[in-house]
This record gives sequence, structure tokens and C-alpha cells, in this order.
Amino acid sequence: MKLDVDVLRYLSKDDFRVLTAVEMGMRNHEIVPSELIDRIASLKHGGTYKVLKNLLKHKLLHHDSSKYDGFRLTYLGYDFLAIKTLVNRGVFTAVGRQIGVGKESDIFEVAKEDGTILAMKLHRLGRVSFRAVKSKRDYLKHRSSYNWLYLSRLAALKEFAFMKALEEHGFPVPLAVDSNRHCVVMSLIQGYPLVQVKELQNPDTVFETIVGLVVRLAEHGLIHCDFNEFNIMIDDDEKVTMIDFPQMVSVSHHNAQMYFDRDVECIFKFFSKRFNLSFEENAGHSDDSKVDSEEVGRPSFADIKKVTGFLDKELSASGFTRKDQDDIERFTGDDVEKDLDSDDKESADEPIEKDEGHFEEEGNPVEQGETSKEDTEMKQDVVSENEGPNDLG
Ligand code: ADP
Ligand code: MG
Repeated sequence: MKLDVDVLRYLSKDDFRVLTAVEMGMRNHEIVPSELIDRIASLKHGGTYKVLKNLLKHKLLHHDSSKYDGFRLTYLGYDFLAIKTLVNRGVFTAVGRQIGVGKESDIFEVAKEDGTILAMKLHRLGRVSFRAVKSKRDYLKHRSSYNWLYLSRLAALKEFAFMKALEEHGFPVPLAVDSNRHCVVMSLIQGYPLVQVKELQNPDTVFETIVGLVVRLAEHGLIHCDFNEFNIMIDDDEKVTMIDFPQMVSVSHHNAQMYFDRDVECIFKFFSKRFNLSFEENAGHSDDSKVDSEEVGRPSFADIKKVTGFLDKELSASGFTRKDQDDIERFTGDDVEKDLDSDDKESADEPIEKDEGHFEEEGNPVEQGETSKEDTEMKQDVVSENEGPNDLG
């Protein structure tokens, strides 16, 4: 996805005020009525409408008049709100090139005032799992806030919390710098994803380190759930860093064993294929497997001494609650896939609105003209977050 940050420089205080008003309106409107945006932003002399046109031109908003005249944020609009807030906080001053396109994220380099380069991950939870999210509408019946904004924000919150907690426990992860909305800023890893590495000086050592990490995570009560050559970074000294935490689960998850075995299997498979490593197999595996007691055996989930409760204690301390975890698990991972296979084929076959990952809300839609109590409260916080110099670039 293109992120033309130049536009940011030309956006005025009023532009951001209106953009924030749309964001606030989206808490309980799929499409925010223009009239409500105007009321929340409360610019003088009908200024809101001129600003809306400008935001639309820059693709920060999407106009929808199918039910009533209204707007919603695009990914780009949401990106700009997060970036603006982080710039105002002094976290970074410029956005550089894109360094990664993940399944559900875009990653950019950002620069601090002193020239230090950091990595910025923008979560796009709706991008892939939109279909799954849509199929989960049952859960949304009485909730109007479950949309891609909410899910992407939750993913960022989770990633930030895990990164911090893991770092505090001595795991090799990027340093968590700051987070806002769907955006996480972290240290830039000087290395490459393992998938790009064709040769290693010490493949055995690297392999042992990586398998050791899966085990140590489980000892801390956690399973990565996407532990593979794309989410392990290696630098020139063959130092390992693991990344990408939004899908992590507790060892008490009902599918914990399966997730753990799958993470282990990914590593074994990759090292065997790419670096021709051969492994000792535990009893119970196929008879013709090679046995060499010098080599690393496949760790068994049952044998690991696990400390549970990590999620509850450490993570809720950093603002990520058990409820957040439950919410995000509900919309990601294999359970969703499984459900899609069974009872939700029909909605899964519906066309996917790829770029925006937006879905119809089935909550209590607030029609145009009605103002909920929340709408009125929103108006009060519109001013606070986005004020400040627009000094990007
Ligand atoms: P996704 O959840 O979309 O898979 P990832 O966190 O795995 O996103 O990041 C996608 C890619 O971006 C990675 O494979 C890596 O190449 C790059 N990347 C992510 N975080 C960093 C970082 N802190 N430093 C350097 N590169 C990174
Ligand atoms: Mg990844």
C-alpha cells in the first residue's frame, strides 16, 4: 500500500479535526452522517464540508451515499491519524520507505529527529481476515464497535504489550517504542527474515536457539502460533530476533498443543529443507526417522514445565486485558478457518471488499439525525489528540 506522507504536510489543523471527527463517529456508525461529522468537528461557517472534500480528494475518507450522505475513514485516513499523533508526541519526525508487507500489516522505516531509524508497523487486521470477521457477525449483534478499526487497534495493542513483556523477560524481540491506534513503533532489526537467508555459518546453533525459543516461550505460558521463517530475523552475526505477535496464545488455550507442535514442525521442516539438518525423532514418530542422540530432539509440549497466567498478569499490566485477548482470538487464527469450513460457507463466498476490509454492522445502527450520548461525549475529546505542529518531512 502506498503511503504518500507528503500529503501530511499539506493537511491543516482543520483537516485533522474533521478526520478525527469521522473516526469518532465510526465508534457507532458504519458510515458517519456528514451532518454528525459537522456537529462533532464544529468548525465555523460550514467549514466542515469544504474540508471533507479535501480529505476525500486525498483518499483519507470514503464517501458513501447509499443509505444517507456520509463518510468513513480509509486505511490511509487512519494511518494519518496515528502518524500525526506519534509525530506530535515526538516519537519520529519522518516516514521513509516501506520495508515489509506482511499478511496483515505494512511496515515502514521512520526517522527520529536525531536520525535514528525505527520500524513502524501499521496493522491491517481486516485485510485478510475480513471474510472471517464477516462470518463472525453473530458475535457482533450488540456491538457496533467491532470493525477493522477496532480489530487493527487491538492487534497493535496486543503486539505492543507482548513485545514489551517478552523483552522484559529477556526474549530477543524488537524494542517496543510506542503505539497509537493500529500502529506500533519499534526498533529496526538489522537483519533479514530467515526465509531470505540461503546460507548460515552455524545452522545447528541457530536451529537450537530457535527451537529453544519455542520451548522457553511455552515455559512462560505462551505460544507464538506463527513461528516460521517469515517471523524470525537473522543478522550478520547470526543473532536471532523474533517478531510478529498479534496471534500469540496462552498454553492454556484449547488448541495449545496443536499450535505448539505446528510452530515446532515449521522450524524442523525449514531447517531440514534449507540447511539439510537431520533430526532425532521422538518415539511415536515414523519408524524410518534418523536417530542421532547428538542432535536436537523434537520438544514435546507435555514435557514442558509451563508457567501459566503470563497473559493475565503481565499483559493486563500493560493495558492489554483478558477480554482483549478473547476478542482478538475470536477473529483470528484457526478457529475462524474451521468455522468457515462448517457453517459459514455462504458468507465466506461473498465477494471481499479487499482494500478497506469494512463490513456491515448489525449492531444498533444510529440513523442520520439521531445523536447518541456517545456522539455528544466524542465532541469533547476531538480537540485533544491531534493538535500540534505538522512538522513531517
Ligand atoms: P505481519 O504480521 O504482517 O506478518 P511482520 O511483523 O511479520 O508482519 O512484518 C512483516 C515483515 O516486515 C517482516 O517479515 C520483516 O521483513 C519486516 N519487519 C517487521 N518488523 C521489523 C523490524 N522491527 N525491523 C526490521 N524489519 C521488520
Ligand atoms: Mg509476519
